Amino acid sequence: MAIKTTFMDKLYADLKNYGDLKLNTPFSKLTTFAVGGPAQYLVNVTDSTKLVDLLNYLNGEGVNYFIIGGGSNLLMPDAGIEGVTIKLQTPKIELFGNTIVAEAGTQLGAVVNLAFKSSLAGLEWAVGIPGTVGGAVRGNAGAMGLDIARSISKVEIWRDGEMVEIQNPDCKFGYRESLFKFNKDVVLRAWFELQPGDKTEIMGRAQDYMKHRTGRYPHFPSAGSFFKNIKMTKWPGDIKELPELFQQRGTVPVGWVMEQLNLKGLAIGGAKISDEHGNFIVNFNEAKQTDVLKIMEIMKEKAYDKFKVELEPEVEIVEKINI
Ligand SMILES: Cc1cc2nc3c(=O)[nH]c(=O)nc-3n(C[C@H](O)[C@H](O)[C@H](O)COP(=O)(O)OP(=O)(O)OC[C@H]3O[C@@H](n4cnc5c(N)ncnc54)[C@H](O)[C@@H]3O)c2cc1C
Repeated sequence: MAIKTTFMDKLYADLKNYGDLKLNTPFSKLTTFAVGGPAQYLVNVTDSTKLVDLLNYLNGEGVNYFIIGGGSNLLMPDAGIEGVTIKLQTPKIELFGNTIVAEAGTQLGAVVNLAFKSSLAGLEWAVGIPGTVGGAVRGNAGAMGLDIARSISKVEIWRDGEMVEIQNPDCKFGYRESLFKFNKDVVLRAWFELQPGDKTEIMGRAQDYMKHRTGRYPHFPSAGSFFKNIKMTKWPGDIKELPELFQQRGTVPVGWVMEQLNLKGLAIGGAKISDEHGNFIVNFNEAKQTDVLKIMEIMKEKAYDKFKVELEPEVEIVEKINI
């Protein structure tokens, strides 16, 4: 016990070298879902060199850590997380011809805005998506059948003490997936290859996407779509009976599934399925992770009973991290 205390004292002192250190900040203040207990040690890192130094230090000490970007795809545990949480706020972004290079802690919105300002096309669909470049690359953020993988040429990562560049095909991007979801790589920066275009046309497309978004998105806190939409190839029923738009996009929206099940508005504790969008679970009154998980189970069960589809969460559900 004394050894553990001494180690924790040293860790506390050392962490201050890498960024602003805060104790017991609730994840409900760090995530868009506004759910979750305290982050024991929260290090706000604003400089990429310090980030790499911190990762090397924690790796050397054998200390686990959790990375948070914008906190917009996370459902955190009610008990919080013991140990180190690293919050990335490294907003460095540069333009080289048609390429934007952005550090992981840059808001995706800043990349989108620079693209618009520079008359570069390819990211119009991403307008209004919250979070950072690191989170978007790891989860291959996307909308309207498009995704970030289409615009990324390469990514720099930290892996076991080394900084490595990974070319797009080796990132193993898939629907809301990448290699980085299945290992402990930390995304440091990304290269976006965009196409020169007409600014008025680019802005017009972005406005159309934004209109679509604002019309449907709930106003209560959430982490976006809770489940991944269902690939058409995995739909067990007759696809000819589905609306044509789904066939064009190649997916069946979970929001539509919930409408067929009449589940919109279902509430448990402080969480409910949004009245506006059936694939959003919202926090309308100090929801606990347990409230959300209960709703999630009902959604999965009912979808399976009626349609024989297995729903897979898009939101990352974090349960526990041990130091
Ligand atoms: C209202 C709303 C609308 C949304 N709409 C969409 C949408 O249209 N399309 C879509 O795809 N998503 C959408 N989302 C979900 C979310 O915005 C995206 O998934 C976003 O890309 C997450 O980025 P983040 O920085 O917030 O990641 P976080 O939530 O902070 O983290 C998510 C995961 O990524 C990891 N991570 C973060 N940074 C790094 C890094 N540098 N290296 C390695 N791992 C890292 C974290 O550890 C965590 O496991 C929406 C969310 C909300 C709240």
